[in-house]
Amino acid sequence: MENEQAEKTVGLKEIANLCKRRGFIFQSSEIYGGIGSVWDYGPLGIELKKNIKDQWWKSMVYDRDDVEGLDAGILMNPETWKASGHVGSFADMLLDCKVCRKRFRVDHLKGDKCPECGGELTEPRSFNLMFKTRVGSVEEEAQDVYLRPETAQGIFVNFENILTCSRRKLPFGVAQIGKSFRNEITTGNFIFRSREFEQMELEFFVEPGQDEKWYEHWLQVRRDWYVSLGIREKKLRLREHEKDELAHYAKKCHDVEFLFPMGWSELEGIANRADYDLMQHSKISGKDLKYFDSVSGKSYFPYVIEPSGGVDRAFLAFLTDAYRTETVKDKNRVFLSLDKRLAPIKAAVLPLLKNKPEIVEMAMKIRDDIKGRYRVVYDDTAAIGRLYRRQDEIGTPYCVTVDVDSLTDGKVTVRERDTMNQERIDASAVKRFMKDNLDLQ
Ligand code: ATP
Repeated sequence: MENEQAEKTVGLKEIANLCKRRGFIFQSSEIYGGIGSVWDYGPLGIELKKNIKDQWWKSMVYDRDDVEGLDAGILMNPETWKASGHVGSFADMLLDCKVCRKRFRVDHLKGDKCPECGGELTEPRSFNLMFKTRVGSVEEEAQDVYLRPETAQGIFVNFENILTCSRRKLPFGVAQIGKSFRNEITTGNFIFRSREFEQMELEFFVEPGQDEKWYEHWLQVRRDWYVSLGIREKKLRLREHEKDELAHYAKKCHDVEFLFPMGWSELEGIANRADYDLMQHSKISGKDLKYFDSVSGKSYFPYVIEPSGGVDRAFLAFLTDAYRTETVKDKNRVFLSLDKRLAPIKAAVLPLLKNKPEIVEMAMKIRDDIKGRYRVVYDDTAAIGRLYRRQDEIGTPYCVTVDVDSLTDGKVTVRERDTMNQERIDASAVKRFMKDNLDLQ
């Protein structure tokens, strides 16, 4: 079934083409020539993205009993970023090629020459990645603020609020999904590195001494999450950060890496942040954010384990891993073998003949019968072969076809995306079929 050869050759360009053509992703403000590394998610993209976020939330919050949710503001008091270290040190070290003028991150370079043309490189310079804007309408009184470069700090500054309202005891976590902004210099690779992107972050607070155990727990849970949603194990690996790679606050860090079309790259980072964040916020805000342990009678700063994933990178990973091609009756077939829970459209109802009102009516009735809980479409804008190809290419698990015989025997054809198996079932049983087969937990 799998065509390994074709799979290996799928490039970012092909994926980006598919995304544009089928309405997953467009370049932002394209009619004005676009803006670098900002992307708009179209009708199918928004569905896939929402499904990824829903699955993350389900696994991190609903399936557990030790995590609360939060949706903090994008703009924060600028003191936050002094405490977190972002104002002082959230910078990439960059250098330029004196010959071809290309810019590189020091941590991405292997040798001391330009990897593109072999030219001489400048000395590294530091570049702060935070976008600055101003709050307040009168220019002189306005205050400089930043668009958050990570969602994590919104969780740390709310630690005490959440602790108080939820009456939690350690260990517990706070989960958040939201936009983050980084003025990335070395962009490219489609949505892999954008200036505006979404993060799915969990800050898990534990007693010091329990951190290593929980760190191992989260490494396993987060890797398994991708596998449970269909990413093949051979495309995933955990890579531990070398000592000199570690962020200044981190005790330990692993990247969950995925084999993207451009090579192994970070999909998610999992860090043991020790007690850095709450300690820093206590210091700068003057508010004591220690946790009082009523059993031991001691107060301390909890340690924090942070699994921090990118929605857009997960999107790209799910999409590229699901991309399959095969030859069927001498024709090339492209299909997305997406997990049903992630598929943007769950079922398409197709009339074999659009000029037969009884067929159209029956198809529309089936569509109305099964829509509501998830996205279902009716499409009569092409011949059946082409309609199937369209749905295959966007990963729709089921197509339901109404034909002339349906009018007499009351049966319709249900076609499965990956196997192309067709089964005739009663029209009245389609709803039940979807319920049983879509498994939309
Ligand atoms: P990189 O080294 O690739 O720049 P990072 O180590 O700076 O990434 P983190 O700060 O650990 O990234 O952010 C956590 C996650 O947020 C990343 O694993 C990634 O999925 C996502 N992310 C970070 N920066 C971007 C970006 N510019 N575009 C899209 N996703 C991003």
